[in-house]
Amino acid sequence: MHAYPTKLELAPDSYLVISWSDGTRRRYRFGELRDICPCATCREKRNAPPPSPLELRILSPQEAQPLRINGMQPVGNYAYSIAFSDGHDTGIFTLELLRSVGEEVAS
Ligand SMILES: [Zn+2]
Repeated sequence: MHAYPTKLELAPDSYLVISWSDGTRRRYRFGELRDICPCATCREKRNAPPPSPLELRILSPQEAQPLRINGMQPVGNYAYSIAFSDGHDTGIFTLELLRSVGEEVAS
């Protein structure tokens, strides 16, 4: 039997808190979730060689803002897609992945 989310909350200070059916709660930093985004584009980016330190990347106005989660949609009964405030919403976060990251908090 797999645990599934019973409650999703956006806490202040850039955290998503998920209550699970087995009674545990885990919290996730928005940036942590963004960094592990499992979509093909992000996986490719993470595997690419680091850019030259002499090359300045220009941040888009959205990227310059503190990262937020604008919404989460269930995908089947095994995952959630997360819409981030930087405009990225193609990542499918499986429940298995969400159980393996973040940190447990007292309920
Ligand atoms: Zn992605």
